[in-house]
Amino acid sequence: MGKPVFPKNLMNNRINESNKKWLDEYKSETDLNKGYYQKIENFFMFRDYKDMAFNTFTVSDIEKYVGVMVDNNYKEDTINTLPGALSGFRNFLVSKHPTIFSKDFLSNLPTRYFEKGDPSDAFVLSVYQIDLIREFNKQNWKYEYIFEIYFQLGIKKKEIIVCHPNNRDMKRSCFRSSEGQEIKYNAKIAQLLDKQRNQDTNLTQVKANYYFLKVTDYLRQQKPKAYEKERMLNYLDIKKSHQKYIIVCPSCGQLTENNAQSWVLAKTKRMPDFRLACTECKGRFYEN
Ligand SMILES: [Zn+2]
Repeated sequence: MGKPVFPKNLMNNRINESNKKWLDEYKSETDLNKGYYQKIENFFMFRDYKDMAFNTFTVSDIEKYVGVMVDNNYKEDTINTLPGALSGFRNFLVSKHPTIFSKDFLSNLPTRYFEKGDPSDAFVLSVYQIDLIREFNKQNWKYEYIFEIYFQLGIKKKEIIVCHPNNRDMKRSCFRSSEGQEIKYNAKIAQLLDKQRNQDTNLTQVKANYYFLKVTDYLRQQKPKAYEKERMLNYLDIKKSHQKYIIVCPSCGQLTENNAQSWVLAKTKRMPDFRLACTECKGRFYEN
């Protein structure tokens, strides 16, 4: 993969007048390295910011730019330097032009977008949070897929690459990587795979992180807030939730969510008492 490049068609040929004026002022009154100013300049060249003065920016506006970087394979470390660069500029403007830039302006900008390593405070999502997340996921097949892959299968973070739709082995209901690694999927994932038609399925850990960024925002925007932690939602939270809500069917062994529509009570000739089984097998393997 070559050096990531910001797509030309998403760039303007010049910066919005007000933003240029503020940036020029910043440059003339500070003595920071060229690359730093360039980073802010590139940011303002983004097409969506053409008619937007910086004092009207919100955290979500900035995330649009982050989204383009993610889609164009920028490294997490590179993307992580953006909020730092912008907050330096922000602080300058807040102190220089307090009537235009209030103290609250971008005060909720995260210090970084992507965490290094795993959080030590991973937690189990509530059913309410899971319902909200699924509501959010409806807008984009990929969002749904990323969430369900981690939630249903409890895979390791990097295994999302193995779970690419192109690696599907329908006969054996599994994903198989070119290196021969196999991960079984369940009925829910099979449904999602069947739904997938010509979707952009370039799935990477960075894409998954970007999804977590978006979904964290969504949970925070709920009233009352459905997410209070300072850090982004992390795949480990999903994995922990998987351990709580996804149960192995004792009859067929398939990973099955703990909701009514996924389970039946079954009995067989040799098993007169009702026992729980998933709707896929309906308990037929209890005979074996
Ligand atoms: Zn079953």
